[in-house]
Amino acid sequence: MPRAELCISKENLLRNVELLYSFSGKPLIAVVKADAYGLGAPLVASVLEERKEVSALAVACVEEGIELRKAGIAKKILVLGGVLKGEEKALVEYRLTPVVSHREHLRAVEGLPIPIQVKYDTGMGRLGFLEGTLQDPRIEGVLSHLSSPLDESYSLQQIEKFRRLVEAYGKLPYVHVESSAGLLYRVAFTTHIRVGLALYGEKPCPTYPVEIRRVLNLRARIISIKTLPAGFPVSYSKSYITQKASRVGVVAFGYADGLMKSLSNKASLWYQDKPVRILGNITMDMTMVDLTGTQAQVGDWVEIVGERQSFTDLARLAGTIPYELMSNLSKRVQRRVVDSTPVPVLK
Ligand SMILES: *Cc1c(COP(=O)(O)O)cnc(C)c1O
Repeated sequence: MPRAELCISKENLLRNVELLYSFSGKPLIAVVKADAYGLGAPLVASVLEERKEVSALAVACVEEGIELRKAGIAKKILVLGGVLKGEEKALVEYRLTPVVSHREHLRAVEGLPIPIQVKYDTGMGRLGFLEGTLQDPRIEGVLSHLSSPLDESYSLQQIEKFRRLVEAYGKLPYVHVESSAGLLYRVAFTTHIRVGLALYGEKPCPTYPVEIRRVLNLRARIISIKTLPAGFPVSYSKSYITQKASRVGVVAFGYADGLMKSLSNKASLWYQDKPVRILGNITMDMTMVDLTGTQAQVGDWVEIVGERQSFTDLARLAGTIPYELMSNLSKRVQRRVVDSTPVPVLK
């Protein structure tokens, strides 16, 4: 029995695929980089594998692509992070499609009998050719990336730049620029959307027009409970001192599992329907919570993220973005796919 587990609802993940597909009218390139934002790339990919609304998966690097192939994933895999010399054999052997965004990437794929996609930098200032329209018979797709998808006028400029670049290519099987937040622009000339966050059940903005569902439940077990008298300091550096006699629970989940230390004394976890405040500093493997007034017992589960609290909620408190919290979930957290919703209730 694991002490911390992440349950992924297959039903809700697939529901999000359908919702994103029907909202955009375009099949998905599911972004599963960074271990599918911490959910577990092989697990997520195997759920998406049989869906025809998902045309391809996207990873950051060749190693991530190899991991998916070794897990038996057959779908097309795009490598967003380009390709370096020395990686060409793996591309062919594992059927990976590189996104070429630099002349050196082009040199690395010289003579290889594989499809490639080309990335243009229309204002992100990261990967992509700034101009020119690279021609190569192996080009099956072109893409760009929005730097500030919630900034409408800037995004529309980027999209317009991209449209002009795309024009030079005629018809291509893959043209994509919209990420989760980018869907808002309903771009007319693209063939696919390239989404991660929304697929995993986190809305990129509060007014997101797609009613996506929560996909996961992250929980950990209570490994100790004791009543501390008033005036008793809790955890390293004594940053919290009990005001009154308090039932303090120790949850088997710390910053090494992915709960950022900056949430110390700020966030709450949930015991059944009750928020239980984090007391004192989050430690490497454990976090203390206030269980006063609950019937919690050692061995019970505490919910960290789920129906009642999202990664986006926690990220706001931590002064970061959900992407960072999610991708920091450690390998100590046991991941599994459960069939249906709701994700398992606590207790
Ligand atoms: C991570 C990433 C995405 C997915 O973005 P979301 O906001 O998670 O939908 C799309 N495109 C590129 C190039 C990325 O790096």
